[in-house]
Amino acid sequence: MSVFDRINRAAAKRLPLKWVRARLDAPIASFSFDDFPRSAWSAGGPILARRGALATYYAAGDFCGRTVDGIDYFDAADLVAIRDAGHEIGCHSFSHEHGPALESHVLRDNLERNAAFLADCLGDHRTASFAYPYGDISPRTKVLAGRHFPVGRGIRAGVNQGLIDLAELKAVPLELRSWSAAEVERWVGEAAANKGWIVFFSHDVSETPTPYGCTPAMLEHALGCVEAAGVEILTVKSGLARAVFA
Ligand SMILES: [Zn+2]
Repeated sequence: MSVFDRINRAAAKRLPLKWVRARLDAPIASFSFDDFPRSAWSAGGPILARRGALATYYAAGDFCGRTVDGIDYFDAADLVAIRDAGHEIGCHSFSHEHGPALESHVLRDNLERNAAFLADCLGDHRTASFAYPYGDISPRTKVLAGRHFPVGRGIRAGVNQGLIDLAELKAVPLELRSWSAAEVERWVGEAAANKGWIVFFSHDVSETPTPYGCTPAMLEHALGCVEAAGVEILTVKSGLARAVFA
């Protein structure tokens, strides 16, 4: 990460744009998949279904129907099936570029292009939540995304509790490169103890995942921890409604 990126990220962190005091009287958890590789649905979907859990799939339209670097991505039929199964489709921009590197009008066009793409696939679709590509964020892009979406999810590690920033929800990775069962258990324990909102994110779900994805067992483990701690699983959109309007 460059110095410029580091400064931007630190400044964005100090710009709590949409601070609200969470009105949770019980902890909640959300599971999200970014980009998203097809296996997040083909392999992740059945695991979620067996537990009656709904997730949020952050689609970047440019990946639709493509294979990039050997990874198969979702297609339009997947989006419909995911929506029909009750999951949430969120926005991950259209072209999946580093937001702070784009001029504001380019970034805005990119968000609108993804909205048009999702509307083409899903008909009347209102996108409630956004995930910053690469978790890359600056004060400017945070303001911009904050205007477009009720809730935005970053990748800064943590549980959302007490005063939470809806323009940059904290999240916990379920990624092979950094995963540890004990860490997942610790984060879930923190959410449960503080009536917080824990948001997991991953990419592909495979027995041989990319560094950014998880195995079926890792996903099962996180779901099992959440269930064992009595934490309800909601999409990010439903989590927002629960945290703000409950
Ligand atoms: Zn992404």
